[in-house]
Amino acid sequence: MLKKIPLLFVLLLGLISSLSFGTPASADIGVELRNADAFSGKNYYYSSTGYYNNASYSSHRSAFSNAASKMNAVANTSISLHTTSGSKSDPIEINMYSVNSSSYDWYGYANYDTGYATLRINEYVCKNDGFSQSNYNKVALHELGHAYYAVHQHSSVSSVMKQGKYSYTDYTTLDKSNFAYKY
Ligand SMILES: [Zn+2]
Repeated sequence: MLKKIPLLFVLLLGLISSLSFGTPASADIGVELRNADAFSGKNYYYSSTGYYNNASYSSHRSAFSNAASKMNAVANTSISLHTTSGSKSDPIEINMYSVNSSSYDWYGYANYDTGYATLRINEYVCKNDGFSQSNYNKVALHELGHAYYAVHQHSSVSSVMKQGKYSYTDYTTLDKSNFAYKY
């Protein structure tokens, strides 16, 4: 009898742990990534960032300009962006481009490291999906977020850092709070 109780107890514990370890994937769905969890690193240039808006489509140019001004407007950060075409004294840290290619399946793409970022919007895929200006705006906000090392958020979260076609013209409360934490 004394031997059976611990055995039953162990079996029960085993059942409980398999249940609790079996479900986190679905339990995590929709969780907002906050503060440190919302970033994979930090760029070095945030306090003085020269950006060059090279986008050839006006919808892209407008989206990138909007993204830079919305990033500048995030409260309680040391983030500061200004336009530059690049010089020794005022180099480009973030370069913004348009592409128009069926070779890629993305709306936007960011290559970035701690010292430099290149952001692109792909007109081919955006146009195919009937993008509005606020859809373009969301892509630019998202790619600029990557330059600041923001990671993807779950699709159910209110954030420009989720992937896909959405309408956003500014960073959300969650995004702003995360940038304020990190920068
Ligand atoms: Zn992304």
